[in-house]
This record gives sequence, structure tokens and C-alpha cells, in this order.
Amino acid sequence: MAVIRACTHCGQKNRIPATHLADTGRCGACKNALPPVNEPLAADTALFDEILQNARVPVLVDFWADWCGPCRMAAPEVARTAADLAGQAIVLKMDSDKHHDLAARYNVRGIPNFLVLHNGKLVHQQAGLVGHDQMEAWLRSAATVSTPA
Ligand SMILES: [Zn+2]
Repeated sequence: MAVIRACTHCGQKNRIPATHLADTGRCGACKNALPPVNEPLAADTALFDEILQNARVPVLVDFWADWCGPCRMAAPEVARTAADLAGQAIVLKMDSDKHHDLAARYNVRGIPNFLVLHNGKLVHQQAGLVGHDQMEAWLRSAATVSTPA
């Protein structure tokens, strides 16, 4: 399971393994740098598990749904967080209507619902609309408290 990203130089689609989503890579075709992921990734449960096990940076997960007004208001905050913390965090969007299994695993009742995970563990969880400053503070704090020695 890998994430497909288009090279901004030549358009080549590159497969990025979960372990390298926060790293600068190199395009397989034109050899230009592929910057770390800087936008939220729409994930399914398989990709979520892959990233949870392999990411070397904290992960923010946004549980949302189409019909949820506060989720729509949170979306630009989530996108801003992914841009601000490119290379330092990974941001996933989970459609809670499509991924009941994962919503149940984390006891997600109200949405938007945000999880912060690091080294495979849940570090923080909070429901309700928050701004990108708050999301970024969670991720920075997760990186500090649970970095393996
Ligand atoms: Zn390229």
C-alpha cells in the first residue's frame, strides 16, 4: 500500500511508501525533488493502518462526513495544518460514513473528531471544530512527548 503523488515538474505519478510520506523524495522519471506531503490524504482503513504502523512523524486524523457542517468548516484548518507541518506530520481524512470499522475502533461518536497518533499509539482525541493553531499544537506536543529514545 502506497500513496500516489504526481511530480510537480513532469507529472509522473510516483508511489510513496508510508514510511516516506514526510520525507523529501526524488521523482522516478525526472529526478527532481518530491517534497514531503503537504495536504491531507483521503485514507481508507488499510492506508490508515499502514501509516499508523510506519509513520515516523505524528499523524492527525480528521473524521468527517459530507453532511456535517462543522466538518466543512474544519476542512481548511486541517489543510492548513498539513501545509504548515509538511515534513513534520501526516494528515489523514477519514470519511466516517465509509469507514465505520475505524470510527468504531476509536469510539468516534461526534464529528468532526480528531485523533493524534504517534508511534502506533493514540496520543490525543478531541471532538468538535478547532483551528489549525490547536491542531498544530497537538502534533508538536505529540512529537515532543513520544519520540522514541
Ligand atoms: Zn518528475
